[in-house]
Amino acid sequence: MVDTETKSTEVGRDFIRDIVQADLDAGRAQNVVTRFPPEPNGFLHLGHAKSICLNFGIARELGGTCHLRFDDTNPVKEEQLFADSIQRDVRWLGFDWGEHLHYASDYFEQLYEWAEHLIRTGNAYVDDTPPEAMRSQRGTLTEPGQNSPFRYRSVEENLDLFRRMRAGEFPNGARVLRAKIDMASGNMNLRDPVLYRILHAHHPRTGDAWSIYPTYDFAHGQSDAIEHITHSVCTLEFEDHRPLYDWLIEHLPVPSRPHQYEFARLNVSYTVLSKRHLTRLVAEKHVTGWDDPRMPTIAGIRRRGVPAAALREFISRVGVARAYSTVDVAMLDSAIRDTLNPIAPRRMAVLRPLKLIIENYPEGQTETLEARNHPDNPDAGVRPLTFGRELYVEQDDFMETPPKKFYRLSPGKEVRLRYGYFVTCREAVKDAAGTVVALRCTYDPASKGGDSPDGRKVQATLHWVAAADAVPAEVRLYSHLFNRPDPGADGDALADLNPESLDVLSGCLVEPALASAAVGEAVQFERTGYFALDPDSRPDRLVFNRTVGLRDTWAKIQGAKVQANTKT
Ligand code: ATP
Ligand code: MG
Repeated sequence: MVDTETKSTEVGRDFIRDIVQADLDAGRAQNVVTRFPPEPNGFLHLGHAKSICLNFGIARELGGTCHLRFDDTNPVKEEQLFADSIQRDVRWLGFDWGEHLHYASDYFEQLYEWAEHLIRTGNAYVDDTPPEAMRSQRGTLTEPGQNSPFRYRSVEENLDLFRRMRAGEFPNGARVLRAKIDMASGNMNLRDPVLYRILHAHHPRTGDAWSIYPTYDFAHGQSDAIEHITHSVCTLEFEDHRPLYDWLIEHLPVPSRPHQYEFARLNVSYTVLSKRHLTRLVAEKHVTGWDDPRMPTIAGIRRRGVPAAALREFISRVGVARAYSTVDVAMLDSAIRDTLNPIAPRRMAVLRPLKLIIENYPEGQTETLEARNHPDNPDAGVRPLTFGRELYVEQDDFMETPPKKFYRLSPGKEVRLRYGYFVTCREAVKDAAGTVVALRCTYDPASKGGDSPDGRKVQATLHWVAAADAVPAEVRLYSHLFNRPDPGADGDALADLNPESLDVLSGCLVEPALASAAVGEAVQFERTGYFALDPDSRPDRLVFNRTVGLRDTWAKIQGAKVQANTKT
């Protein structure tokens, strides 16, 4: 594994951290307790990574704790597989909840008691209105809602009905429990929101014990209170729910009074970060699974070979704010390159091989050369490379009739083979169809190691592998899963899928050192990009995923901006 160093890159300040720090300074909070509350109905994605880095990051920086709490209140969509993947992904990102692994379902009995408390204090009632009618009674943003005819039931009748709901006497959807707040409120969330619904469904943890389940709004704040969460940090779409969050805390005998704070959710160009869409991508087999390397899931990103440190670096560069924005996916790639460049071992791999024959190299002979594992880091050591009469280079490193600035191979041109020798192309060998199938070359024996024997210069250094020991491999090149920066802006996001998001190259040849690469750990294929061995790989069939290419358009854009800003 690439080092998940604890040197925090996310210590940058933001308004949430400022609020927490101010509460500590003023003594409004003695300690800080945050939580990350995923619903176990899918794999975690980049957006969750932002929330994880924020919640766990704050706790770590300020000596507090962060709980992992599963919001498992909807048994219809939730699965143990997802809960397991979530724990794996949070840990992989470098965070730890210690003993604070919690489930909203652990609080079902307490939540139920509090629901009865609301009934007894006249603050909740059982409503028999069918869903359709209830929706129309709710009113609109400009018109107040109407009171339900069931709003004035007695406490006794409400308690009786609610207990029978729990006992499973009524079918799904027959009744709900609602808070009695204000049907004329300007905030739709305060128009007698539903607290409990009837759902005869098996729950992964509570089995068939419950026929009613609390809504997110009822479960969330109360779970926060039970866990003594000090700062309940969530995304902006819950801002309008905050008055309800506060109302419930005020009307219940909860053991603590947490506060909710909102920040803008992460959006990234050329992808979608909504579980609804991601679930469809998997279910409709547009991708191979939740961990398909094209997916914006943590599992997919990890499989691509991205180290956790790169993801944390990206999140730290994005920052935390209240304004909505979409982050350019190039910024993620840039953070990945910046993280990998200093640490990724260098290797040689030829993606589209073209045979190169060195005619003045003795037939049947090979020799061992030495290659550095990292150009700037001598501690990374060296590795042996076999050199011989037959080698492979990239097809696009040769052009028979090159344009002016093409410095690579063409008849008569001399280039350096990295860590090898200077070679000069003499002639292209063609098949009957006129396709170039090999290059006849000569080499300069005095240029061993790639050093110029007499100070003469070559304008290109190419990567290569030796026919004697190159290992066959499949390389999977990925590009954006969607073909527009804002998938779904004109309708169905899945209509914007990029049909060319995966390009499989099956005839690649890689140097033998790559046969022992570790799954998921990116190396740099010289001149080509960063790649990591896929778990599908077998000893006789290596499979590599492209983690990210080498060209950094984002850094260029930023560089240009800096230049423009410094020009006076
Ligand atoms: P989705 O919209 O993808 O279905 P969700 O909000 O339903 O996500 P949860 O499992 O409920 O998914 O999310 C757990 C936590 O992660 C919540 O606190 C939520 O605010 C946060 N979160 C989800 N998506 C993002 C995002 N894009 N950016 C930042 N935080 C997010
Ligand atoms: Mg949610």
